[in-house]
Amino acid sequence: MRSRKGIYIHIPFCVKKCNYCAFLSFDAVTSPRGEYTEALCEEIRLRAAETKDRRIDTVYIGGGTPSVLDVSQLRDILHTVRECFDIKEDAEITIEANPATLGRKDGVMLAKLQAYKYMGINRLSMGVQSMDNDRLHFLGRIHTAENVARDMKLAREKGFDNLNLDLIFSVPGESREDALKDLDEIIALNPEHISCYSLQIEEDTPFAEMIEHGEMTEAPDEEDRETYHAICGRLREAGYEHYEISNFAKPGYRSRHNSLYWDMSDYIAFGLGASGFTDNARYRNTSDIEDYIKTVGEGRLPIAESYANTPFDNISEAVFTGLRRIEGISYEDAVAAYDRASETTIKNSPKERFWEIFKEAKTEAEEYEKRGLLIIDDQGLRLTEQGIDISNSIMSLFV
Ligand code: SF4
Repeated sequence: MRSRKGIYIHIPFCVKKCNYCAFLSFDAVTSPRGEYTEALCEEIRLRAAETKDRRIDTVYIGGGTPSVLDVSQLRDILHTVRECFDIKEDAEITIEANPATLGRKDGVMLAKLQAYKYMGINRLSMGVQSMDNDRLHFLGRIHTAENVARDMKLAREKGFDNLNLDLIFSVPGESREDALKDLDEIIALNPEHISCYSLQIEEDTPFAEMIEHGEMTEAPDEEDRETYHAICGRLREAGYEHYEISNFAKPGYRSRHNSLYWDMSDYIAFGLGASGFTDNARYRNTSDIEDYIKTVGEGRLPIAESYANTPFDNISEAVFTGLRRIEGISYEDAVAAYDRASETTIKNSPKERFWEIFKEAKTEAEEYEKRGLLIIDDQGLRLTEQGIDISNSIMSLFV
């Protein structure tokens, strides 16, 4: 059976840097958006020329804030993708469209959404983060709760029926009740998909600096975990399936693109700093925008580093990412990931082979099982809801 394959496209521009953001993004006004778009299209053509199987199931345009691109720039990018790859008719095509970046006036915004529809974009992902204007301001976001409600309404009007909204919780100064109130307001907007992330303080961000200067303190771990579990419960009650540590969807609306990452399928990544995984090898593009434009202009792929996975890398990554899914990872899928990068196939059962490969992790894994944090059965393993709280420690057993 052919495994699924996706395309990720990175648009590294934002209107303003958020206070917690460590993503690769630059000022949308002063950056060379036009030159970048041309380089991106050229990179797509260059990589397509050396890709054998060009059938694609999902396309994800992320950033940054892709919705700051002009419609014509986005059209050029998607046109090039369609010219160079075989995009399946029912492909999921997502764009991250931050509130307040689609246009100030309803008419402008509707025209932009209409253009997205014509381009075949069928899923919008909005970085809402909070429905409290003070908290949005504190986070450094440029939008308000009113923008979110308006954007949702207009997106529905234009027929978008697959919307994701992101929520950030454990913002300093926010109580559990505040977080749940945010969540309730997001649920009331009735999106098909909700992603919930605990605020992470990343190095070299204004928030990291504020913590260093004693101007802010992070939410205590225990409180953060209690809020997380309350969020999971509230979303389940509202009819959302909890299918990945941070992701919840109405039935039939799981993110097909993100699922590619969690099941070790291939994805080709384009754009500044983008990372891809194809044919059991990983690569990362340069993060220097001038270098990116120059390299692609010279007809070369802008790769900063690439390496082939060993069979162990493959199974280790499969377990690490697979455990993020609530259904966990089966021995069969994990061992299949190993075999994809291996020249020899041993005939033992997947379960026997799995524990042969991870024999050194077995005792500790069983300890986690006894503590009710990990479920190990004949099919594979999965985290319990309490196990999610220490997911990194459990996952690191398999690295
Ligand atoms: S919009 Fe997203 S990518 Fe841009 S600065 Fe804010 S968090 Fe970072």
